[in-house]
Amino acid sequence: MSASVVTRFAPSPTGELHLGNARTALFNWLLARRSGGRFVLRVEDTDAGRSTGDFVEALLRDLRWLGLDWEEGPDRGGPSAPYRQSERGANHAADFAALEAAGVVYPCFCTPVELEMARRAQRAAGQAPRYAGTCRVLDAPARANRLAQGLRPSMRFRVPGGRHIGFTDLVHGPLEFLSDDIGDFVVRRADGTAAFFFGNAVDDAAMGVTHVLRGEDDLANTPRQMLELEALGRATPSYGHLSLLLGADGVPLSKRHGATSLRELREQGYLPVAIRNYLFRLGHSTPEHGLLGPVAMADAFDPAHLGRAPARFDEAQLHAWQKAAVHRLSPEDARRWLAQVLPGDVPEAAVAAFVEAVLPNVVFPEDARPWVETIFRAAPVLGAEEARAVAEAGPHFFAAAAAAAEAGRGELGAIVRAVRETTGRKGAAVYGPLRLALTGQTHGPKLAALLRALPVTETVHRLGRFA
Ligand code: GLU
Repeated sequence: MSASVVTRFAPSPTGELHLGNARTALFNWLLARRSGGRFVLRVEDTDAGRSTGDFVEALLRDLRWLGLDWEEGPDRGGPSAPYRQSERGANHAADFAALEAAGVVYPCFCTPVELEMARRAQRAAGQAPRYAGTCRVLDAPARANRLAQGLRPSMRFRVPGGRHIGFTDLVHGPLEFLSDDIGDFVVRRADGTAAFFFGNAVDDAAMGVTHVLRGEDDLANTPRQMLELEALGRATPSYGHLSLLLGADGVPLSKRHGATSLRELREQGYLPVAIRNYLFRLGHSTPEHGLLGPVAMADAFDPAHLGRAPARFDEAQLHAWQKAAVHRLSPEDARRWLAQVLPGDVPEAAVAAFVEAVLPNVVFPEDARPWVETIFRAAPVLGAEEARAVAEAGPHFFAAAAAAAEAGRGELGAIVRAVRETTGRKGAAVYGPLRLALTGQTHGPKLAALLRALPVTETVHRLGRFA
């Protein structure tokens, strides 16, 4: 693939960006990045009833948060502006004029009710419903007559008979469609706006898009789009139709599978690098096992490795990537990521020590909250079983521990040595009671690291209370 690769993401802003669309965006972005090409963001906001400006803003924010960037888009313009489809009426009008001049379209006066009746009749006769061609055969006087009645026609594409429309799909390989299976389709609605799959195709052509990775649900429209572009003398991009993203239950991923919008995942504390790494392996196989950064991921992306089988969303895997991503956070990034649960009234050094101590033990910021309580609030009250274990260790144990804590500035090694010498205990018989007295828990972050976050006076107090 050469440097002239141009890919795009063309979302309809009718809702929040969810994992399925994010995967499509990521794959197109990677395809552009791996070849030093361009990535275009076009907002397909022609469904005025469902598209809102808020969704457009949220979409841009979510894409940026995920770590994607674009050379051309509604926020930054570019050589093929505008990048909001609703503003491309003049471009579309020029294309309609070209189709008319080429004689490949005709006005259609059929009403929605007439079309529905025709479809029902076809279904009843066991035929696949498609436009019956009623207005294809109207002669000039008949058309003039209808126009004179004030009827506003849509514009239909005259599909040529007997054609084989073939292309090599980047995911599915060679595919072939018969034009005889395709009814004449609307390219311009009666209100003058572009039909969705017309605007989509001509905008790709106008923006120089060379490769389109999109959902499999658009596959059936591809031969129509190829006919449109051919009639306009425009190049057809290479299409790749991505397998559907399903929930664990085999049903297309949706709200009922829980948090699947990027906003929800971000609010839970998911890191963008975790989501990118998970999506990268969703319907795309790769020999790379580790967490990949953007450049390595672009190098490793291979459209030949896109799978045809539906991909299933597995929260446990996303979780595993999140864990790997959290463990790789730099101290500063970890601090920012945990900010919402960190106390504001604690010395800087203690917070830094705390973050370092808990990071290996948390997957989401909320997981750190109980440890904030344990370390920065009152000494933990022990449960009955924990109190028994502490009593079993005995007052000498804790007297030695508290004294060593005081003398050794709360350093764990000094405390452990003193307890060993005083009691003759070893290993878990030393660490277990210490951990219980200090944290109230049998498990948790490394004790030595936690002690670096705890004020020495507090360490002495927590140990000394059992002496
Ligand atoms: N606006 C369409 C969608 O959101 C894009 C289809 C395409 O990628 O060609 O589904």
